Amino acid sequence: MNVGENKVVSITYLLRENDANGELIQEVNEERPFVYLFGQGGLLPAFKSNLEGLEDGDIFDFKLSKEDAYGAPSDENIIDLPKKIFEVDGKVDESLLKVGETVPMEDQEGMPLVGIIAELGDEVVKMDFNHPLAGMDLHFCGKVLEVREPSPEELEHGHAHGPEGH
Ligand SMILES: [Zn+2]
Repeated sequence: MNVGENKVVSITYLLRENDANGELIQEVNEERPFVYLFGQGGLLPAFKSNLEGLEDGDIFDFKLSKEDAYGAPSDENIIDLPKKIFEVDGKVDESLLKVGETVPMEDQEGMPLVGIIAELGDEVVKMDFNHPLAGMDLHFCGKVLEVREPSPEELEHGHAHGPEGH
């Protein structure tokens, strides 16, 4: 069966910066493959088009330029926030506020957003909301483990289910 719209696809891959010899960013292996309902959002379009049409057992190896991946980092995504919004019960937990720490937050519409603490001031925390992979060319190599039809439930939910359900 070929990778295409509304098929459940399981893949393993190595993600490296730049090319096949670049720094390893992420490894997805056969113990915990990446399983998803193809065509249901959340994937980079260029990543999707590189997998489309492959079959069970096929190997893939491709590069996405940063323009096709997460774009260039922008200063507009670096924002000063008042330190007091990090207060819980009137106190800031200083052990959580460290440069380089990732902080899950929400935007004005309540959508989840991940920020990295870039700088700490007395009153202000500089947060970097650029995607961690912004500015990078990405190299993927991996294997298609399985392509199957979704269950009616998976189609209804718009995502793939593991062997034990969700
Ligand atoms: Zn579900």
